[in-house]
Amino acid sequence: MRKSIWSDSISISERPSLSGDIKTDVLIIGGGMCGILCAYFLNQRGIDCVLAEGNRIASGITKNTTAKITSQHGIIYADLIKQYGLEKAKLYLDANQKALLEYEKICRKIDCDFEKRNAYVYSLDNRAKIEDEVKAVNSLGFNATFLEETELPFKIDGAVCFENQAQFNPLKFISEISKNIKIFENTFVYKLAPNKAFTKNGTIKAKSIIVATHFPFLNKHGSYFLKLYQQRSYVSAYKNVPPINGMYLDENIRGLSFRSYKDITLIGGNNHRTGKKSTAWEPINDFAQKHYLSGERMFQWGNQDCMSLDNIPYIGHYSKNTPNLYVATGFNKWGMTSSMVAAMILTDMIEGRENDFAEVFSPQRSILKPQLFINGFESTVNLLTPIPKRCSHLGCALKWNKYEHTWDCPCHGSRFEENGRIIDNPAMKNIKKD
Ligand SMILES: Cc1cc2nc3c(=O)[nH]c(=O)nc-3n(C[C@H](O)[C@H](O)[C@H](O)COP(=O)(O)OP(=O)(O)OC[C@H]3O[C@@H](n4cnc5c(N)ncnc54)[C@H](O)[C@@H]3O)c2cc1C
Repeated sequence: MRKSIWSDSISISERPSLSGDIKTDVLIIGGGMCGILCAYFLNQRGIDCVLAEGNRIASGITKNTTAKITSQHGIIYADLIKQYGLEKAKLYLDANQKALLEYEKICRKIDCDFEKRNAYVYSLDNRAKIEDEVKAVNSLGFNATFLEETELPFKIDGAVCFENQAQFNPLKFISEISKNIKIFENTFVYKLAPNKAFTKNGTIKAKSIIVATHFPFLNKHGSYFLKLYQQRSYVSAYKNVPPINGMYLDENIRGLSFRSYKDITLIGGNNHRTGKKSTAWEPINDFAQKHYLSGERMFQWGNQDCMSLDNIPYIGHYSKNTPNLYVATGFNKWGMTSSMVAAMILTDMIEGRENDFAEVFSPQRSILKPQLFINGFESTVNLLTPIPKRCSHLGCALKWNKYEHTWDCPCHGSRFEENGRIIDNPAMKNIKKD
């Protein structure tokens, strides 16, 4: 039951693990949506590359996504214009629209249940916020419309619609596009030196390295432990409910999201910082009980993503001092289009080509944002909390998650099974069993 609908739909063929020392032009570390798309693009351009995955490909965050492919990333454009101006906000939107088109191009040739759908962000009580977002998006030259009602079974105060967005099955997609990529599974990179990665059974030398490990694991450079935190949320999938056409998201961080997959409706939400108190699936299941009396729950799963300081991912050089090391992270729960944007930008950077979008996503932009101080505060409090269960990443106090029976870290979002086995990074090691 804790398996996602995607994991249940397909099993991806296994790849060998690395044994011995090898050389390549580009090494990609991590085989989620981001790493696989980077490798796919490099392959398409005829660049020699190898992907090292610590576990199985698509076994990380990507297997638990809801897989909407859209440039509508919540209510962000009014704020992006305020923070960075019209030009940069437009580049962000254009990059994600281009990503959507790239998906469409690839998906035409493969079977991955790709469907064009409209995307909506609704508000239950803040019409003005929705109206402002419609105006902001229109000022960027993109057509967003205001709606007073939707097909969902409750009243709203307003919704913003982006037409012609999309949804798909992410694991079917990965299974298809990874066929011609040189991949080593069960090949965990435990150490990086300039142009060299170390795994248990061999090393990989590369002219360029892309870290696509969800949370970047090198602490010495780039300060990702300050620039990122993780947000957890929950999904339940129901059969026997009225079908929905669009893809929906509440503008309120605690609200719900909806999409369909075949005859099943996915309801997600109840976001919170990983490691904080939560009620997990309860509000989602309460909602379904109230509005979908005949609904039958088929799947239920949880997931989390890395959140940046300013709603823009970090894609580019890992740090100022690591010239051939690249990173893509901080997708803010929009890693489908963001992974495609990362593949477009990083392939160009590695080839030495100009990319119009690179500056907007640069990890070297200013970190002086309010979220930085919240992240700093959380880390300080949890480092000083005197309980014996500590995270193997930077030593923060772990919190027991009674819904998922895991130990979760409120500082950076690492998670561990009850027996101490690591589930989610940035931690690289298990913790001791009690
Ligand atoms: C509830 C929820 C719903 C979401 N819905 C959407 C949506 O509708 N649309 C959307 O655009 N986005 C969505 N997202 C976000 C999206 O799912 C993620 O941003 C994306 O899947 C992240 O992909 P990734 O490749 O960065 O990470 P991952 O899929 O986690 O891949 C990283 C890989 O790196 C490997 N790895 C880690 N460390 C090492 C190492 N040292 N050596 C080797 N391998 C290593 C891991 O095993 C893993 O396979 C959602 C997120 C959540 C939480």
